[in-house]
Amino acid sequence: MSDSALPTPRLPDAGSIIDGAVVPALDGATRDVHDPATGTTLLAVAEGGRAEGAAAVAAARRAFDAGGWSGSSPQARARTLERVADLLARDAERFAHLETLDTGKPSSESRDDLVQVEAVFRYYAALLRTQTGDVNPVPAGALSLTLHRPAGVVVMITPWNYPLLQASWKVAPGLASGCCFVLKPSELTPLTTLALGALLLEAGVPPGVANVVTGAGGQLGSALVNDERIDMISFTGGLATGRGIARSAADRAVKVALELGGKNPNIVLADADLDVAVDRALDAVFFHAGQVCSAGSRLLVDDAVHDEVVEALIERVARIRVGFGWEEGTEMGPLISHEHRDKVEGYVALAQEEGAELRLGGRRPQNARFSQGSFLEPTILTGLPPEGRVAREEIFGPVLTVERFSGLDEALARANATDTGLAAAIWTRDVGTALAAAGRLRFGTVWWNDFHPYFPEAPWGGFKTSGVGRELGRTGLREYQEEQHVYLNLRPRLGGAFGMRERP
Ligand code: NAD
Repeated sequence: MSDSALPTPRLPDAGSIIDGAVVPALDGATRDVHDPATGTTLLAVAEGGRAEGAAAVAAARRAFDAGGWSGSSPQARARTLERVADLLARDAERFAHLETLDTGKPSSESRDDLVQVEAVFRYYAALLRTQTGDVNPVPAGALSLTLHRPAGVVVMITPWNYPLLQASWKVAPGLASGCCFVLKPSELTPLTTLALGALLLEAGVPPGVANVVTGAGGQLGSALVNDERIDMISFTGGLATGRGIARSAADRAVKVALELGGKNPNIVLADADLDVAVDRALDAVFFHAGQVCSAGSRLLVDDAVHDEVVEALIERVARIRVGFGWEEGTEMGPLISHEHRDKVEGYVALAQEEGAELRLGGRRPQNARFSQGSFLEPTILTGLPPEGRVAREEIFGPVLTVERFSGLDEALARANATDTGLAAAIWTRDVGTALAAAGRLRFGTVWWNDFHPYFPEAPWGGFKTSGVGRELGRTGLREYQEEQHVYLNLRPRLGGAFGMRERP
């Protein structure tokens, strides 16, 4: 990357990490990983398939069954997680730059991701040191304990929009719980996940515990989720893939956790602080060019302030600096691929067919510097009919649709009129209104006077088709654990139904 404003980062080794070793694909196949901003090839990584998947699952199974990691003390695992966090802090600039090259997102966003990734490892280390089981109330002479055991061998599959962050939400609680895993990143963005795999080994995670394999979803991913030796699948990605994975999990009756897409309403009531609401509405939808599962792509604005809000949005969005993620001052990068841009452009066209008015953007930038990348101008559409497809389906691009409503009831009805239920926000000065609205919004997260904040300490996940289970928080640790009831009879004595009872 000769025109990069940042020093070129050290690229990860190009092979999968299986049983502690970096290995090429058995047949030597590779896949070029591209920078979506320039189309340049960054690295040719191993293109694993069924054989590599089987080898990685075998390594994880052996490591788990041997008990070295799964049976280690919580303190020992917590120390390892803390070392992982320390190494991530040491290498934060390298990881952030790799993430920007691989995904196109601005460096400022990648650096924020790294802060969050480090925090997740520290949080689960701390939680592990303090997690306790239960002593259940049973009759005298016995002890009934609820203990937490590792779920086993976990297949983790992650998407391309937040490759490292999404991996950390699985890897940190999985390792903390004593699980062994096979992690498959998206074939579009494997760089930071491969670098993480190497870093875990450096931190002292034993060989076989943490395996990272690269390859296509349809081949490698499918082989992993259908492997008879796994105990759990944790998947983040699209709904169609998630449904297929849930079917695979059902076939072998293993645990499954799904984090899927969203169509997230951002509701502005007439009494809101409009300056802040408009400012944060931009973060809500244009972070990572809208390629965020919780993107606030659907702005619902009270009739009384609709026109004022739209004018302010247009004025501000027109000034968003689109560019190469690694360049100082870039506020929005490209989409992940030309194919994905085609899909987003299709939604812009569909919205207009459905009756919406294109108010800004909707085009590819004219600047010749960007001609090889998958750029799209930040876009605003107004007048979207609520019954159309665009109001209900995830666009996953830099496209903000604005709808007007009249009264809170209409706003909430429209917000809920989607199959998904990941996140929603409401802007009002009245906390009572906000709290009451939260109870009626069928979403896993509801923000009041904010958009996007999430924390390692709080659960993340969706209602309805946005997912099954939760990541982060205490629940995020429990996902990777099985509760075990251990019953200790402190006074064993005769008296069994068929045993040596005293006879009359
Ligand atoms: P995707 O479903 O196309 O791919 C996700 C992962 O699944 C990739 O690693 C892919 O290789 C793999 N995969 C594909 N087919 C597979 C198969 N048959 N078997 C096993 N694995 C397979 O999704 P994507 O396009 O990478 O990601 C975008 C989607 O992810 C969006 O819908 C977004 O909303 C969602 N997402 C959700 C969250 C959340 O927390 N809820 C977070 C990030 C992204």
